[in-house]
Amino acid sequence: MVTPNPEFSKEIAAAGGEEVKMCFQCGTCTAGCPSGRQTSYRVRKLMRMAQLGLKEEIINSDELWECSTCYTCVERCPRQVPIVDIVISLRNIAVAEGHMFDAHKKTASNLAAYGHTVPVQDKISALRADLGLPEIPPTLLSNENAMADFSKILKATGFDKIVE
Ligand code: SF4
Ligand code: SF4
Repeated sequence: MVTPNPEFSKEIAAAGGEEVKMCFQCGTCTAGCPSGRQTSYRVRKLMRMAQLGLKEEIINSDELWECSTCYTCVERCPRQVPIVDIVISLRNIAVAEGHMFDAHKKTASNLAAYGHTVPVQDKISALRADLGLPEIPPTLLSNENAMADFSKILKATGFDKIVE
């Protein structure tokens, strides 16, 4: 038995996903979704769950994290529902409540540690040097003060705890 949460639609709207109400459940998105071919993820179902306010079921589900943000569904949706924006809004709500898929957590922990989701590799540094560029790019990686400020932001938002 599931318990709809009527307040959830307000949360989705506040997080940028108000247009989920435009979905009329035609299923065109699911029919073209490459992630859905490989996993149990069904984007039409996710949109319906959001409309119904099934917050706990959504934020605790693995499927929420199986969209690859390829935008095929957005291109095909006859109602022009901004599906990827809605998926991201739902993920933002899930993360704010401490839920994140393990693979995403790993990527996010790189962000917390290095200021980049993909750390600089020796091969790339050598290639940069060959091109006459600094081995370390002029980003957070080479700016201790900016990295310290960035870490403070992650701490203030609790993001560091989520990815620990
Ligand atoms: S294609 Fe658009 S209207 Fe159709 S089910 Fe998907 S989101 Fe809803
Ligand atoms: S953006 Fe996500 S939901 Fe849409 S088709 Fe691509 S993988 Fe599927």
